[in-house]
Amino acid sequence: AVVGALFWGLRAAAGGAWEKEKKEEKEEKQRSRELLVRVLRLYKPDAVLLLGAFSFLLLSVLCGMFIPFYTGKVIDSLRTGQHEQEFLSAILFISLYSLGSSLGAGCRGGLFLCVIASFTRRVKLRLFGSLANQEIGFFEAVKTGQLTTCLSDDTTLMSRTVALNINVLLRTLILTLGMVVLMLSLSWRLTLMVLLEAPITGVIQQLYQSRHQRLSEELRDSVARANAAANEAVSGAWLVRSFHAERGEARRYGDLLMDTHRLKTSRDTVRALYLLARRFSGVSLQVAVLLCSRQVVQRGHMTTGSLLTFLIYQGEMGDNIRTLISIVGNLLTSVGAAKKVFEYLDRKPQCTMGTLAPDQLSGHVTFDHVTFSYPCQPEKQVLQDFSLDLRPGKVTALVGPSGGGKTTCASLLQTLYQPQRGQILLDGQTLCSYQHHYLHKKVTVVSQEPEILSGSIRDNIAYGLPDCSLDDIQEAARKANAHNFISQLKKGYDTEVGERGGQLSKSEKQRVAIARALVRHPRVLILDEVTSSLDTDSEIKVQQALSSGPAPTLLVIAHSLRTVQNADHIVVIGQGRVQEQGSHQQLMAARGSYYNLWEKHQSSSVAAAGHH
Ligand code: ADP
Ligand code: MG
Repeated sequence: AVVGALFWGLRAAAGGAWEKEKKEEKEEKQRSRELLVRVLRLYKPDAVLLLGAFSFLLLSVLCGMFIPFYTGKVIDSLRTGQHEQEFLSAILFISLYSLGSSLGAGCRGGLFLCVIASFTRRVKLRLFGSLANQEIGFFEAVKTGQLTTCLSDDTTLMSRTVALNINVLLRTLILTLGMVVLMLSLSWRLTLMVLLEAPITGVIQQLYQSRHQRLSEELRDSVARANAAANEAVSGAWLVRSFHAERGEARRYGDLLMDTHRLKTSRDTVRALYLLARRFSGVSLQVAVLLCSRQVVQRGHMTTGSLLTFLIYQGEMGDNIRTLISIVGNLLTSVGAAKKVFEYLDRKPQCTMGTLAPDQLSGHVTFDHVTFSYPCQPEKQVLQDFSLDLRPGKVTALVGPSGGGKTTCASLLQTLYQPQRGQILLDGQTLCSYQHHYLHKKVTVVSQEPEILSGSIRDNIAYGLPDCSLDDIQEAARKANAHNFISQLKKGYDTEVGERGGQLSKSEKQRVAIARALVRHPRVLILDEVTSSLDTDSEIKVQQALSSGPAPTLLVIAHSLRTVQNADHIVVIGQGRVQEQGSHQQLMAARGSYYNLWEKHQSSSVAAAGHH
């Protein structure tokens, strides 16, 4: 009794874990099935092409199936030696069916490739659209390499494998059914033996599938990691060079490659073992059938020709059963790549924009008790209960130490991130209630690090405004004091600036970026430490240009104080809070942190002057 109880206890414990594992596996399968259905739905626009492909498939399979049948007839007619007519007609049929079969196979293959190409393009485009809509925090959390791998490899893999697998599945399914009927008509005994292969292959497949899938998934992740590392090192090549980090980067990449290599080897070993087992079971059955065939023929159940037909079918049947069993598994694995694609495809961006697009916008901006931390560093509050008012048409200066949260304010104004508490209002409405396109035309930022894309200067200035005339572009460039240097270039506005604007100096890039902001005629303009990289001449010109015409609400973020004393309002930010605010005179009189900054500035410029 004790032993019995112990046994039961053990069984229950083991059974619990086992059942749990089984349940997880089941859920996984269910999810794969759902994914597969979603992938199949995406094929809808190609329905006509697919139908064509399937018709040719049917043609090629049916034609192919009759060839062994007539081969048997040829043998029988040779043996009896009298029926020349029969012999010739069998040969004729074989030729006709071969022709039909190859024609069908060719057309089927071509159509399938067309379907795959159009499907891949569609999925890539959709995925790109979804990625482009994600909030910036998403891109900070996910490695660029992962996204590009998903976009380039996973989409291709997903469409190719699913389409090819379905193609093969249908072909083998029709073939198998047809052959079973033909084989049964030849000899039911031998047919039953041949069909024994199905359960055996099934067991082998079961053992193999899950291992292979797990290893494949790990391998894919590992490749993505290696790609991301290489990407980072290549795009930061100058950094790697100037800080002599080549060796460290190479080692990091090498380690990741080694990881990939190890996973690949295990996956291939598993596959090799599987192929071996499959082959062995197939060959054993073939031998068994050959042994039995002697009796069947001697007893007159079959002619020699029919036996030959049967043996040819058997050879193909073995392949078919193996394919059929593996393909069901493969179909579920092939959606592994689809998993990532759909994950990104389904992701809802955190902030969705509204529909407001008023004709008149005064440009009144309010930061209303905003508390914010970056998504990748949620515990560090960059802005704390931060309130700020930018009055329409006025110049507000934001000063403070580096790391104080000035650029963060600019990013929030562009809705690149969402504050955790409080809100940012534009003319009394939250930023998110405006139309995306509208908001980014009315509120523009010239950022601290001017982002210039490859392409011409003209493209860069008119970025995001497809129907912007050259006149507008030139006018904006004049205001930004960029027209002079651009017209001195050989190709003027059509000059290519190289990747990330590498062929321009920082000041030139900055002025192109200013022109890009001005060409939109914004109502709210944020200049993030722009003046520090401009010479005094440019700075004066830009300021003159800004004060002519209907002045936008201007937020000048400045590290150096020289530029801010004329501002209508000055706000000192430090540690994510407003430390002080007022006019230059008020703040100087208050002798607070602004006064201290100013003192420091004064003494450092005196020291610098003395130095020269
Ligand atoms: P400032 O422009 O005043 O020099 P920032 O607004 O750029 O300061 O930065 C404020 C703080 O936020 C800094 O401590 C900085 O480390 C942090 N920070 C800036 N950008 C990010 C980011 N993308 N993710 C996480 N932390 C950031
Ligand atoms: Mg900054």
